[in-house]
Amino acid sequence: MPERTIYFDHAATTALDARVLDAMLPYFTTEYGNASSIYTLGRHAMQAIDSAREQVAEVLGCRPTEITFTGCGSESDNLAIKGIAHAAQKKGNHLITSSIEHHAVLHTCQYLERFGFKTTYLPVDAYGMIDPDDVGRAITDQTILVSIMYANNEVGTIEPVAEIGRICRARKVPFHIDAVQAGGSLPLSVAELNADLLSLSAHKFYGPKGVGILYVRQGVRLLPQLQGGSQERGRRAGTENVAGIIGAAAALRLAQEELPLVSPYISTLRDRLITAILAIPRSRLTGHPTERLPNNASFSFEGVEGESILLNLDLLGIAASTGSACTSGSVDPSHVLIAMGLPPEWSHGSLRLTLGKENADADVDVLLSELPGILEKLRNLQG
Ligand code: PLP
Repeated sequence: MPERTIYFDHAATTALDARVLDAMLPYFTTEYGNASSIYTLGRHAMQAIDSAREQVAEVLGCRPTEITFTGCGSESDNLAIKGIAHAAQKKGNHLITSSIEHHAVLHTCQYLERFGFKTTYLPVDAYGMIDPDDVGRAITDQTILVSIMYANNEVGTIEPVAEIGRICRARKVPFHIDAVQAGGSLPLSVAELNADLLSLSAHKFYGPKGVGILYVRQGVRLLPQLQGGSQERGRRAGTENVAGIIGAAAALRLAQEELPLVSPYISTLRDRLITAILAIPRSRLTGHPTERLPNNASFSFEGVEGESILLNLDLLGIAASTGSACTSGSVDPSHVLIAMGLPPEWSHGSLRLTLGKENADADVDVLLSELPGILEKLRNLQG
């Protein structure tokens, strides 16, 4: 067994930052009050949530009342899309998104289609980039929401969201950004992004799992999707996950504070990976060459299965990811690679390496010394 995991899957999740854990711990033990209770212990919990909300609002450059804490990034996406759709259904029934969104967005749109909504799924180019003019062309007088991701979770392409937001605002259509993959890597000013709604997930930036954040610009009408108590100003019923909320806010603040240091460090490691891996025969980079997340190095290898690469890396203690998904016994390439027009001989062999601040040059050395041999072995096996 390898001594330790070399972790190259930070787009899947991250370890909790020790400072975040310290901030959370009292809210599991001594400060266990329910934030709805009016006695001191409850008020402490509510004060902690208020202060977390202020911290998040400061990072996003918005009002604290525009922040709702949810149970995950998927819930934030669901609340944004269903919440707008249900509130605006008298105005129109048309949604616009892209063909490379996360399933939290795609499946939500598909679900709404069962109830009479219609969705335009915009295409992307070979780099996974959306053309903002396509958004402008797709808007009709029935359009009630545009939802586009800040950066793609598989190939790391950063979308021109500020420009898309500008177009939406000019046409008076609310704009939602799924910023789940960008929270730890890119600036998040909602004013500069022209966002009306924005989703985040704490476990992607060294915060706890099970906490999402949704920004909703004041004045945007949204119907709650969970009925019950009046927590989160009536937007999301349910006793607040106090420790999780404290952790999410602390993690977001730290991630954004450390961005100027961490981003160049990680992108140097990323570029080492990209340069060396592209020297391997029959390999190509997936996603945009320059407009990509600082931590994302994703590839495609002709004539191999991504799953087999992962299993071989795992035997060496290296954790990575592939865009393929195993459905009913066969391995299908991801909807993202298909939308980018990657031929099947290439799209089956995808490998996503996503770096984090705890990765070092030595981790990259290990991967680079092992990967060429793994690919050669797999290609020989397949004849
Ligand atoms: N949106 C994107 C772009 C993601 O990458 C993910 C998770 O990978 C989600 C939404 C869902 O977030 P969560 O895992 O917190 O539900």
